[in-house]
Amino acid sequence: MLKTFRGGVHPQDSKSYTRDKAIVEMPVPKKVIIPVSQHIGAPGNPVVKVGDDVKKGQLIAYNDTFITSSVHASTSGKVVDIGVYPSSYKNESLAIVIESDGLDEWALGLPMHRDWENLDIKEIHQIVRDSGIVGLGGANFPSHIKISYGPEKKIDTFILNGAECEPYLNGDYRIMMDHTERLAAGVKIAMKSLNVKRGIVGIEDNKPEAVKAMTEALKGTDVQVVAVPTKYPQGAERMLIKVLAEREIPAGKRHSDIGVVGMNVCTIDSVANAVINGIPLIERVVTVAGDAVAEPMNVMVRIGTSFKDVIEFCGGLTKTPDKIINGGPMMGYAQGSMEVPVVKGVAGILAMTKEALCDGDEEACIRCGRCVEACPIGLIPSMLSILGEKGRYEEAKEKFGILNCIECGSCSYVCPAKRNIVQYIRYLKNLNWEHSPHHK
Ligand code: SF4
Ligand code: SF4
Repeated sequence: MLKTFRGGVHPQDSKSYTRDKAIVEMPVPKKVIIPVSQHIGAPGNPVVKVGDDVKKGQLIAYNDTFITSSVHASTSGKVVDIGVYPSSYKNESLAIVIESDGLDEWALGLPMHRDWENLDIKEIHQIVRDSGIVGLGGANFPSHIKISYGPEKKIDTFILNGAECEPYLNGDYRIMMDHTERLAAGVKIAMKSLNVKRGIVGIEDNKPEAVKAMTEALKGTDVQVVAVPTKYPQGAERMLIKVLAEREIPAGKRHSDIGVVGMNVCTIDSVANAVINGIPLIERVVTVAGDAVAEPMNVMVRIGTSFKDVIEFCGGLTKTPDKIINGGPMMGYAQGSMEVPVVKGVAGILAMTKEALCDGDEEACIRCGRCVEACPIGLIPSMLSILGEKGRYEEAKEKFGILNCIECGSCSYVCPAKRNIVQYIRYLKNLNWEHSPHHK
């Protein structure tokens, strides 16, 4: 019997809206707005100029530092502007705007089919780097760094994170069901790249079909497929590693410091697509749902497509939403505008009314202790929220370990006083942006 982690919650998973809907390819929009910064690290520098014709998959922004990620045109057309635009990552960013020519023509030499088993490790690292892949589960950390940790960090275990515990989101589940073979190849590529023998695929036990499909696809390999207990935030890397590798990440450390690299399903699918098919990261799966969306679905969306275009593709809005959420309801961010583009880290777009959100007015803490019980890290969220209100970052850091908070939202979820605990925590961390997990 697998051990579980302390705390956590069991929110209504609301997966049924899109769970059985295969991934649908959205047609290319008339215009894409592609930010040069969609990742942790240095933004790309544009390598095209206004008036240039570009092709699908062509490099359009690049930086030669190590902690960065390349950016590619997600369709063919003309560059009509390069300027600062609102973004779904970091509020705003320099962006390259491409007006589609409707032809959707690949750049010269793409796609490029490769016999990946004969590539050496360095070639794999370079392909991942050149393909602009970042952590697509929301971390936005450049994948070429993670996938090349191998010997230097003494990595011995690779974990594919298929837990996808956020309510509503089904993109990873659908990739496990719809791209099973490619994803299984991606696991082998990651293990080769990291030079590890031990591979584990962790999938929540509420997705038995995915467990079955991945077990079948990885039969005869050293990779173990494990059904983990369904409990939020099981998909947080810290929790999954604890349950699967039975290792704790010490405070202030990362999983790579304890010999483990974990990557999420969508990221590894993109790695496989890049290494096997030579296709850079120009699209991703987005779950579109919420009670205000006409037809919830899992959509393959070109990077740079506006939230508005994606929602219109899903039949538009049937009610006025109170919030448009980028991501899931537990860890996502409310977006101020539907004009922002889908960037690499956008796993979900939820349009939800007040009733569906169960939002209420925030009240004073009644010291019930529920948030303390729910916190999987063992923090005192009530205290962090009070310090957040007062802007007392140093105290939150030194006495209450705010830097260990994974922003899972379990505390806010259980709070009967509807306190926006995570918002307070994010506010404090943003006063010290370099400490946010979104900055690592
Ligand atoms: S304090 Fe942080 S880690 Fe703990 S429950 Fe709240 S958001 Fe999650
Ligand atoms: S759950 Fe809410 S009301 Fe209860 S102790 Fe925590 S912050 Fe206070």
